[in-house]
Parts: sequence; C-alpha cells; structure tokens
Amino acid sequence: MNEHEGVWVFIEQNNGDIEGVSLELLGAGRKLADKLSVPLSGILLGMEIKSLAAKAISYGADQVYVIDDPVLKDYRTESYMKGVIMLAEKYKPEIFLYGATANGKDLASAVATDLSTGLTADTTMLDVDVEKRLLEASRPAFGGNIMATILCKKHRPQMATVRPKVMKALEPDNGRKGKIIEEKIELSESEMRTKVIKIVKDITKKVKLAEADIIVAGGKGLGDSKNFELIHELAERLGGTVAGSRDVVEAGWLPHEQQVGQTGETVTPKIYFAIGISGAIQHIVGMKNSELIIAINKDPNAPIFDVATFGIVGDALEIVPKLIEQFKQIRIETGGEVSYVGKI
Ligand code: FAD
Repeated sequence: MNEHEGVWVFIEQNNGDIEGVSLELLGAGRKLADKLSVPLSGILLGMEIKSLAAKAISYGADQVYVIDDPVLKDYRTESYMKGVIMLAEKYKPEIFLYGATANGKDLASAVATDLSTGLTADTTMLDVDVEKRLLEASRPAFGGNIMATILCKKHRPQMATVRPKVMKALEPDNGRKGKIIEEKIELSESEMRTKVIKIVKDITKKVKLAEADIIVAGGKGLGDSKNFELIHELAERLGGTVAGSRDVVEAGWLPHEQQVGQTGETVTPKIYFAIGISGAIQHIVGMKNSELIIAINKDPNAPIFDVATFGIVGDALEIVPKLIEQFKQIRIETGGEVSYVGKI
C-alpha cells in the first residue's frame, strides 16, 4: 500500500466543458493533497478534450493525465473504466475522487469493483488523517440520523463520490503552471459492446433548483397549501424558483424535486428566502452555502436565524404580502437581467 501516492480527481466533461462538480473537487482535493504533501492530479478522458487540461490546472491540479481518443467520445462504462483502471494501475494514487453525478457514480463503482477497493458514495465532507494516510469520507447514514465517517484501511486507492455543490471550487488562476501527461488507451471501437446511437437532451420543464439564483422556500409555518400560494407569488415577482422543506413535501404542497435538504436538493443560490421554516439541521445542510439567506419566522429562537444573513421576526402571512407589494414597486434592470432591492 505504501507505493500508492497522490490525490486524483476524475475530471468529468460534457459538451466541451468541465462539469462544475469536478472543479469543486479540485478545490477539495487541493486541501487533501497539501495536507499530505503530495501532488493533485486530474484524470481527463474524452475526444478532443486536451485543451480542458489547462482549465483543470488553473483550478488547482498540479498535473493532468489525458487520454484523448475517439473511443472515449461519449461516456460509456466499458471504455472509461478501462482507461481509468489502466492509469490507476500504472500510477497508483492513494485517494481518488469523483463527482456524484450519474456518470461519476457509474464509473466509480465499476472502477472500485475492478480494483477491489472501497468506495464511499455521496460524501458530504472530506478530510485526511495525515499520520495514518487515511481519507476520512463523511456522509449521512441510517436514514440521515447520524453522520458516518468511513475509512478504507486495507485497500488503495481510497475512493469517494461527492455530491455537487457541497465543496467549493478555488478561484481559477490562469497563470498556474502544471504538467499535462498524455496516455493512450488500448481499445478500438470494434471491441466495444455498446454504441451510442443518439444523446437525447432533457427538455422537460423540470425545476432545476441547483441552478437557481433566487430561491423562495416555504415551510410548514405557512399553515396550509392555500397560504403557500404566497410563496409562489413572491417567487414569481422576484423571478425566483419555489422550494420547500420536507414537511411541506410530505403535506403534498410541493413535489419532492422541490425539496431542499439532506434528503432533497443541495442548493447555493445568490438569495435564499426561508419562510416559515424552522431550520432543522436536515434542512440547513441543503442551503447553508447560499450567498444571502433571508429568514422569516414568528419564533425569534428558530434555528434558521443562526444561519440567516437577515432575519425578520413576525407572521409570514402578514410580511410576505407586504414584500410582494414592495417588490412590485422596486425594480432595477441590470444588463438584461432583472434584480430587485427594497426595504420592508
Ligand atoms: P416546522 O419544523 O414545523 O417549522 C415551522 C416553522 O414555522 C417554525 O419555526 C415556526 O416558528 C414557524 N412559523 C409558524 N407559523 C408561522 C407564521 N405564521 N409565520 C412565520 N413563521 C411561522 N427536512 C427538510 O427540510 N429537508 C430534508 O431533506 C430533510 N431530510 C430529513 C431526513 C431525515 C432522516 C429526518 C429525520 C428528517 C428530515 N427532514 C428534512 C425533516 C426535518 O427534520 C424537519 O422536520 C423539517 O425540515 C421541518 O420542516 P419545517 O421547518 O417546514 O416545519
């Protein structure tokens, strides 16, 4: 096991760019690599993707292993797994991180099985025990009632998938220097058992909470589904997206895809309104990294105020209609985008 050294991040790319979660993982991986005093490497596979290696370096990688081959044009478990395993067996990393995306999860589990090593899925915190050279990968366990820190003591590499939007990417530094190491894959298209005929884009109008700039979230404090209409009205006025707590989803006021929290979505909007939401830890883990949090709650001791940037203590049923009224009057145009400011 001592021959294994270095922290690796799988650089997922789609449509000619690196996925956000991979940049976030380079930020998290940088900290682990610095603590262990080892290099941070990016693993970049695809076709005509070599130019993305410089971006990975600007986000913190010391070096990027690149396999650029037509057989890697579209993601397929078989070809990506083969390329990644070849690299892992040749260069022997001690830690290997992947984004918990559909492809990241698929690849990580296939690689872990082939390399006979452990994999912690859907990690939300990462640290390292430098003395023992052990990755400490933490995630909610037993239905979210505890945080479990999972170690992989006997096998290498220690692998984890990490949820998007949980880690922070570093500010890119375009002057950063790094190495690009090109490798080849011994695999031809005729050996492949699967073919990608067509990629069908998701054109459904599903709410994409993770991408929203303004989120107006309501909780059980609204009282009933009729009052919850106020949340929709405020969101519409602000050009925001509606979300809610789990209790609201369980009451049937919102579909599950609009739930924020541990068993829902993790969000990082510019503005997050938490209205009539108590601020249970399971809710807070999903929204605490929002840039600005505005909480409205009639209980001054509600835990949501511990994470709020601004707090309004009072009855949401009186305050929200006033906000809607105010935002009708105050409207600022900013270069195509519309944003709002106002005082209550
Ligand atoms: P409540 O806790 O009932 O809070 C209502 C709040 O509204 C109170 O603070 C009250 O003071 C305030 N209020 C009441 N009337 C008014 C009014 N008129 N004006 C203003 N304020 C008012 N929860 C999530 O949200 N997301 C998750 O992903 C999630 N996952 C979970 C996973 C597990 C394993 C478990 C055990 C729980 C999970 N929960 C989750 C549930 C969580 O513990 C809380 O029960 C839930 O977040 C509470 O929802 P709430 O704040 O809307 O309701």
